[in-house]
Amino acid sequence: MNNINVGCPRCGSLNVKVVSDITETTKGFGAGKGCLGYICLGPIGLLCGMLGMGKTKTKTNTYRVCADCGARFK
Ligand SMILES: [Zn+2]
Repeated sequence: MNNINVGCPRCGSLNVKVVSDITETTKGFGAGKGCLGYICLGPIGLLCGMLGMGKTKTKTNTYRVCADCGARFK
């Protein structure tokens, strides 16, 4: 299958814009979860909670938006 992205798959319009969406995801435990880990697992739980903190992942998502019908597609 030769899938060339020409136009909108919904309405067939060629009036399509490419949009880049940057999503930032902060992974890990909040202070509350770290404390919860401490209660459940003792110092090891707290350590795990602290290690999981502050990991930020940036994801760039590029997709197309149809200017005519508003459909989003890759
Ligand atoms: Zn469309």
